[in-house]
Amino acid sequence: MSKRAYNFNAGPAAIPLAVLERAQQEFVDFQGSGMSIMEMSHRGAIYEGVHNETEQLLKKLLNVPAGYKVLFLQGGASTQFAMIPMNLLREGQVASYVMTGSWADKAIKEAKLIGETHIAASSEADKFMRIPALDEIEIPAHAAYLHVTSNETIEGTQFASYPDTGNVPLIGDMSSDILCRPVDVSKFGMIYAGAQKNLGPSGVTVVIAREELIAESPKTIPTMLRYDTHFKNNSLYNTPPSFSIYMVNQTLKWLEEQGGLAAVERNNREKANLIYNTIDNSGGFYIGCAQESSRSIMNLTFRLQSEELEKKFIKESEAVGFVGLKGHRSVGGLRASAYNAVPQETCQALATFMADFQQKNG
Ligand code: PMP
Repeated sequence: MSKRAYNFNAGPAAIPLAVLERAQQEFVDFQGSGMSIMEMSHRGAIYEGVHNETEQLLKKLLNVPAGYKVLFLQGGASTQFAMIPMNLLREGQVASYVMTGSWADKAIKEAKLIGETHIAASSEADKFMRIPALDEIEIPAHAAYLHVTSNETIEGTQFASYPDTGNVPLIGDMSSDILCRPVDVSKFGMIYAGAQKNLGPSGVTVVIAREELIAESPKTIPTMLRYDTHFKNNSLYNTPPSFSIYMVNQTLKWLEEQGGLAAVERNNREKANLIYNTIDNSGGFYIGCAQESSRSIMNLTFRLQSEELEKKFIKESEAVGFVGLKGHRSVGGLRASAYNAVPQETCQALATFMADFQQKNG
């Protein structure tokens, strides 16, 4: 087999090699059916088995309490930005958001199209290089929910812990950090994530929600944009993205084999430390973007002294097999996305490359 790239893509991103190989084995003939899983009816017993098992695997891995439902939807996390206020924001209420950066901003912009919004806390004054402290967050009594972006993929910041919101449902966009560590799901009314970073390929969006929040949607919302449609039909109202859900199923099994989320978190922290330590020990050659206490263990953002040097870094890194280290076009700089499936050796290779690059250019 050809050499695997040192893949630091932000999403779609690395998928565990074992998962890709398993999919390859099963690609043409799934469970002796004489067809690929992509070729079979989503109403048949084989597909339904995979579909339901995927929900159960996710619930087990995340330790989801009773009373929650997992939905498999389409339209990406971006569609959730609109579905959340459409379904949950009622007359006389406000949709409250913690403004942490690029993705929080997109979520708020969609909510503004639907109803009244409110900023519960913002780190804009610090150029979004930190996550607001929990005691900065002010939730109005008439909030329909509080929305947080658990991990800002572009800025490279991540909530270290989540606010207690009492009776106001907490909603978390975990697109770029779901399953990177254990989470107390009971704190949340809803968690959602596009799959293409930590869950598998693009094409499916996972929603984990308290049943009471999704059991009845306002009658005026179109069928496909109603949570209750998908809740009542077990995400089988229309044709689901069956192959993507199968890949999520395989990824969840792989995570279980890694020892569960506590082990996954330990590994992720070791990986992130390899790179953050290289930054911190570089005497200012590399400059970490996020404030230390808000640093993401998924998206590691840093800069060099000049854009010229950054360009050189990217060019030379690509020449030796690194992929995806250019920062998002909106903020520039460098970004290493070290999601669950990025192996420890890949992070070690980057740390070594960074040290070499400094020696030659410092
Ligand atoms: N939220 C976050 C935190 C993201 O990183 C992304 C994608 N990069 C999105 C939302 C949008 O996801 P999608 O492309 O699935 O709509």
